[in-house]
Amino acid sequence: MKKIGIIQYENGDSQRLAALLAERLRAAGYEPLPDRVDGAELVVCIGGDGSFLHTLRRFDFPDVPFAGFNTGHLGFFQELGEEDIDYFIKKYESGDYTSQAYRTVEAVIEHEGGSLPVRGLNEIVVRGSGARLCHLKITIGDSFIENFSGDGVVVSTPAGSTAYNYALGGSIVDPRLSLLQLSPIAPVNSAAYRSFTSGILLPPDLGVGLYPVSDMRNRDRETFVSVDGETLPLQGIHSVSVILSEKAVTLLRFKDYSFWNTVKEKLL
Ligand code: NAP
Repeated sequence: MKKIGIIQYENGDSQRLAALLAERLRAAGYEPLPDRVDGAELVVCIGGDGSFLHTLRRFDFPDVPFAGFNTGHLGFFQELGEEDIDYFIKKYESGDYTSQAYRTVEAVIEHEGGSLPVRGLNEIVVRGSGARLCHLKITIGDSFIENFSGDGVVVSTPAGSTAYNYALGGSIVDPRLSLLQLSPIAPVNSAAYRSFTSGILLPPDLGVGLYPVSDMRNRDRETFVSVDGETLPLQGIHSVSVILSEKAVTLLRFKDYSFWNTVKEKLL
């Protein structure tokens, strides 16, 4: 029997929708797999974009394709609603959908405890602690770019360009493009510091190197790395090397999906 994973975390609407979906899938001859990804040919994630990001992290970016049901959130990734359950099953059975691949971002973090590889769908953020200035040596490929001072930087994928990156004044990027965007968070420009102020777009074969440095007064600063909104419990970060990954997340789209209509509807 064909198996479909169903992931939901929240109570209320998401729980009710998950139960309803499982019932309708059973009636259509599928075996629903609650809270499971392994063995599924498709995984339905119920919630908002945050739930989708959490699911990817929790199951370590599985290769299985996803479909998303939105339960009252912003829902950039989550396209369907409760009223679409039968429509979704019919379209899935007949193969009437499009498949969208979102390339992920990967980084290797060198810290006092060793080396940690990480992956995100939206972005990698490197920033200082609280309201303190963060100083980063930035390289692109083999080139030294500058010593940046500010709150930190965000390296976002096209999928993440509509999230934190957008709030920083970064460009909205069509997910069909393969690039990374480096955006500054509150860059300082003064007689003491010079920092880039606009987004920087990078081709897929060029990585970004971010190296926390002490400030002019030689004070050590704590630096934090967050991946898709989750801050990692690491100390003594020496470097963060970020690159666009070959690994993509596949999302099935059942409606007449247009990225730019979604942008217009949800952001503009
Ligand atoms: P959250 O703080 O609960 O919510 C962040 C908001 O961003 C939610 O409305 C979420 O949509 C939306 N979102 C997530 N990914 C998106 C995308 N690719 N395009 C457009 N909107 C998106 O945290 P969360 O839900 O776990 O999401 C983590 C994300 O929050 C991070 O990856 C980062 O991009 C974003 N963030 C934004 C800011 C900012 O804008 N200043 C600051 C920190 C983090 P749903 O409502 O559908 O969940």
